[in-house]
Amino acid sequence: MGPLCTWALCQNAPNLPTGAASSPMLATLKRLRYWLVAWIVLSLVAGTLLARNELVHQREAFDTDARIVHRLLSQRAVQHDAILATLALLRPNASGDHPEQRLPALYSQILSVSSRSPGVQWHTRSLSDAEEVSRRTQKPALAAFDPAMGRYQMVLAGQPESYALTIDIHNMVPWTEWPSNANSSPVRISLYLAGQERVLQKGLRGPSAGKGWNFEARKVLATESQPFEVVSQLHLGWAALPWSQMLASTLLLALALLAAKALLQQREERRRSTERQRLGQIARLNTLGELAAGMAHELNQPLTAMLANTQAASRMLDDTEPDFPLARQAMQLAVQQARRASEVVTRLRRTVERPSTGGNVVAISLADAAQRALYVLEPDLQRHKTQADVHAQGRPFEIQAEPVALEQIIHNLVQNALQAMEQTAPENRRLCLILECTPTHGVLRVQDSGPGIFAEALPRIFEPFFTTREGGLGLGLSLCETLAIGMGAKLTAANLAAGGAEFILSVPLATPEPLP
Ligand code: ADP
Repeated sequence: MGPLCTWALCQNAPNLPTGAASSPMLATLKRLRYWLVAWIVLSLVAGTLLARNELVHQREAFDTDARIVHRLLSQRAVQHDAILATLALLRPNASGDHPEQRLPALYSQILSVSSRSPGVQWHTRSLSDAEEVSRRTQKPALAAFDPAMGRYQMVLAGQPESYALTIDIHNMVPWTEWPSNANSSPVRISLYLAGQERVLQKGLRGPSAGKGWNFEARKVLATESQPFEVVSQLHLGWAALPWSQMLASTLLLALALLAAKALLQQREERRRSTERQRLGQIARLNTLGELAAGMAHELNQPLTAMLANTQAASRMLDDTEPDFPLARQAMQLAVQQARRASEVVTRLRRTVERPSTGGNVVAISLADAAQRALYVLEPDLQRHKTQADVHAQGRPFEIQAEPVALEQIIHNLVQNALQAMEQTAPENRRLCLILECTPTHGVLRVQDSGPGIFAEALPRIFEPFFTTREGGLGLGLSLCETLAIGMGAKLTAANLAAGGAEFILSVPLATPEPLP
């Protein structure tokens, strides 16, 4: 196996404390600063959107109410025109009956009805002037507006009699149909004429009061005879904002970010643990190198002694008069040395014995494991200018495997493939991971476009220490096979007809298909 990537080492480097972060509180804040900034920004955005929505909603409700108020008041004003027009059609009768005097009883807003007979003067100048206007325009005309008393007068010039109505503004309002509660509504509603104002609904606060938002709607009544401007005003202070919702959104965002952080931390932890496993493997390999050197040293001595003793015994037995006791002694010494050598080998075996595998077998997705291995090997793939294609055939499936061992197998197979393709021109390098499943097993095929496995190497590649690579240890595939067998899987190798090698890992399915 070639050298393993070292990028994870940098990622695992601990965050060394700096001067500013020496206090635990500051250190925590520094560590979480990006999350805090994200939380503040998101909370501000969410809060602004909620506040904006609330203001838009309030504005719409205000506009709707203002339109209703204008319509209701206009209907009343038009009614006054109609009443005057009806009065103008009346002819004074000899009986002295004055039916117009019954109008105040029918319409609460009509305080009084007066008329002017030919030759008689109106008792106020404003009524005379209004009659002039009315005569000219052939329509009712406004005579006087008294905002303090809440009244106005209007006149319709007629023949022979002209009529005038005195209207009470408060009673003119159809309170039963009014869109808001006049006592508690925050909206101020007034009638304006020539800079004079009569308030119909006080509202909570004046439009200029405090900081916040001011809404206003102005529209003149829908009749020329009573050109009052209906003005609706609403002042919204900071208290009108949806603070509870804004607070809730801030808390929810904090929870969501905490969950995201925990998730990322979990992923990071998992990646680190895989890296730790891999580093452990490297350490084991290094130890193995040292053990091999020690083994060579320890075996050299008994083997040399064995050789010397057996050669001496052989020489003695070749003599014309063989010295059997001495030859026997030499042979016994050789046996002793052979035993010593055997003990050295046994001791070494015990030392390098691998931990048992298969203990942590769980149901996992083979596709996910392949993706994870490729993710970790991304830098190697880039360095080797090789693109890895993953083809999943058939339905998704889960296998029964030990996650770390599985990843290590895939990792080793991919690394072998990359090493095998080193001599292949970059444009011809193909690495393909094929996932398929049989009724009982999940299968992963790792195919490359390298030179393939040499015919004489094919039966031996899973043997420990078998290698054709310069500087290779010949332990990668043997380890993969041991790990595979440990979890009930099978690893085989073959050459592809089109060239290149194929390694097939077959692992029992977590839920095998029931037998037909
Ligand atoms: P190492 O990589 O140290 O040689 P391995 O056990 O991983 O040890 O591989 C053993 C041998 O198997 C390699 O030396 C090589 O001859 C052969 N081999 C492994 N993978 C491939 C491959 N993808 N293509 C061709 N030969 C391979």
